[in-house]
Amino acid sequence: DPVLSLSNLTYIYPNKKTALDNISFDVFPGEKIAIVGPNGAGKTTLFLHLNYTFKSKGHIKVAGKDISEYKNADRVKEIGIMFADPDNQLFMPTVFDDVAFGPLNLGLSEDETKKRVEEAMAMTGIADLRDRVPHHLSFGQKKKVVLASIVALRPKILVLDEPTANLDPKSKRDVLAIIDKLNKEGITTIVATHDVNLLSELADRVIVLNERIIETGTPREIFSNI
Ligand code: ADP
Ligand code: ADP
Repeated sequence: DPVLSLSNLTYIYPNKKTALDNISFDVFPGEKIAIVGPNGAGKTTLFLHLNYTFKSKGHIKVAGKDISEYKNADRVKEIGIMFADPDNQLFMPTVFDDVAFGPLNLGLSEDETKKRVEEAMAMTGIADLRDRVPHHLSFGQKKKVVLASIVALRPKILVLDEPTANLDPKSKRDVLAIIDKLNKEGITTIVATHDVNLLSELADRVIVLNERIIETGTPREIFSNI
């Protein structure tokens, strides 16, 4: 069964701009999906539906249940979303506190939280940043802290909006390796990117979006049509 199922999702901004036009697709457990499309294609708008910021015509099911039926705390255990701008997702005085915030908010014990934070910091390579102020870090470091804060929640689906944009080459390699490792551990990964060079690395299946779904296929199939 799909872990994520979108049916007939349509979103129109208050200024009448249609950002998503009748989007339907299913994502299966462990899949590695890339959503590609030019700037303005609707990728961010789509992701704002996955944390229930936006509500639309159509339906979104997560693990078989309509997203509107989830409490926030239950939804974040299913889907973690990294938005393009890390500054909007970092707000605690230290890196450790930022990564610990989610698990504590779920009501996990201090011990369990600490264990998850250590694990998440180790796998994202930020253990040495634990006492730093998140807002003072480099862009690439901030991205990794946001990733760690999501990993600590152990979601089944990881959604990333332009995860490699504006990164230096080393941070870009690191972030790609983290995504790949999480996918190999069984987490479903959905990445929005406009970098077609990353498709074969980031995806088994590509969804080309531009307001509507233009086509879907393997990276090889999509490339042969470009
Ligand atoms: P992407 O993430 O693929 O760049 P977005 O989801 O940000 O695309 O935007 C989709 C479309 O909706 C674009 O045409 C964009 O200009 C428009 N849009 C985004 N946010 C708003 C908004 N708050 N009000 C009106 N139109 C918007
Ligand atoms: P992204 O490509 O990551 O979506 P954008 O540059 O398209 O980033 O959008 C940045 C911000 O501007 C978003 O908050 C989006 O909602 C808003 N925005 C984009 N297009 C419009 C628009 N036509 N009218 C109003 N707000 C918009």
